[in-house]
Amino acid sequence: MKKIAVIGAGTMGNGIAHVFAQNNFSVNLIDVSQPQLEKAFNIIEKNLERQLAKNIISADTKNKTLANIASFTSIERGVSQCDLAIEAATENESIKLKIFKELDELSPASCLLASNTSSISITKIASATHRPEKVIGMHFMNPVPVMKLVEIINGYSTQKEVTDTIIAISQKIGKIPCVVNDYPGFIANRILMPMINEAIFSLYENVAGVEEIDTVMKLGMAHPMGPLQLADFIGLDVCHAILTVLFEGFGNSKYAPCPLLTNMVHAQKLGVKTGEGFYKYTVGSKDRIVSDRFR
Ligand code: NAD
Repeated sequence: MKKIAVIGAGTMGNGIAHVFAQNNFSVNLIDVSQPQLEKAFNIIEKNLERQLAKNIISADTKNKTLANIASFTSIERGVSQCDLAIEAATENESIKLKIFKELDELSPASCLLASNTSSISITKIASATHRPEKVIGMHFMNPVPVMKLVEIINGYSTQKEVTDTIIAISQKIGKIPCVVNDYPGFIANRILMPMINEAIFSLYENVAGVEEIDTVMKLGMAHPMGPLQLADFIGLDVCHAILTVLFEGFGNSKYAPCPLLTNMVHAQKLGVKTGEGFYKYTVGSKDRIVSDRFR
């Protein structure tokens, strides 16, 4: 495997492109939005500079990594010669089905198709293609250049050889793969999202403020970050979408998104990426400021 396409240049797509490019793969980064592609390149460059400043990489690696990434606004041009396409577009089933139909039509027949979806059924995504045996989940964690885990999700029809190839490529880029089966939320989000939702319910029911909830979970459970800060980091729209998949997939009200989360998504207070969620953020920074709203 040499050439990788990454579809979607948002929070996750830029990190996935960064990691593959840093490990000498040629990466085609594809997004419908040209400004988003430009933003992704700036973020990748900034993250590489941070790695350089910490002596994690050399200046040569930084330059080679950037040179390994090309950008495209159409899937057609971006996937025509790829060995593996990793979709990291918006967490919306109809968007993903449309992308996989296009990937199936436009990529070489041998190309493996992976989705970074946090919760949408890999089997359903695979049904949009004529090669369900070559479709797999490759769920990276945020931030991709830092987090070691890749949750690999076998769809109903995924071939064992495909899983083995994806395990090997994950190891090649320095990640630790963990294989799970295709049920709503897989493992990571089936366990994480109810915790985040419960933290939001605790705020909604005025049991405690944002700082208190995050401090209890950080200091009491030794979590590196509180659940509300983590929700801001993931994106409140993404959290809402995952909870909806769990709610509908299991038909169980315990997964219903908290009404406060729904309101915040409607108000476009999506966390770090829009500058405000449970905390406020200065533009281009992940440093949080406690918002007056939740004091
Ligand atoms: P994001 O909103 O930051 O980025 C999504 C990108 O997809 C946007 O740039 C958008 O322009 C692009 N896009 C939308 N439709 C497209 C299309 N048809 N073709 C090409 N690009 C298109 O989202 P994100 O947080 O990066 O999440 C992407 C995926 O990764 C989702 O499936 C999400 O569930 C999953 N994920 C997110 C996190 C996280 O912490 N944010 C963690 C793990 C997995």
